[in-house]
Amino acid sequence: MRLALDEAELAVRGGDVPVGAVVLSADGTTVLATGHNEREATGDPTAHAEVLAVRRAAAELGQWRLTDCTLVVTLEPCTMCAGAIVQSRVDRLVYGARDEKAGATGSLWDVVRDRRLNHRPEVIGGVLDDECARLLTDFFRDR
Ligand SMILES: [Zn+2]
Repeated sequence: MRLALDEAELAVRGGDVPVGAVVLSADGTTVLATGHNEREATGDPTAHAEVLAVRRAAAELGQWRLTDCTLVVTLEPCTMCAGAIVQSRVDRLVYGARDEKAGATGSLWDVVRDRRLNHRPEVIGGVLDDECARLLTDFFRDR
């Protein structure tokens, strides 16, 4: 999560909301990819930290399945990212701050644990949530 927080800070340079993500290898020892929000920086509406990290991890592994991998992200994923998480088959999602307004992994929806889906990753929320939330609060206060 500390790496994801560092990544989140990079988003601010491009004028983006500070959210960072990291994908860890199956054994948890290797960082396969990182990502931070780049929507403003790139003009791409899908350039959320999680989507970018998942895409880069798949490119690194040379396959779309991120079986046994862990996605760590500073903010609870939205519906789009929850979908990407299910599609990528990551085994574990670790997130920091809850997103009561748009969270799709437990707050507003729980897409990744919907029993109608055949892949449901383990979800661990609230990791370093105060630090993750503070980054966002500071960002929006400064605007
Ligand atoms: Zn998202």
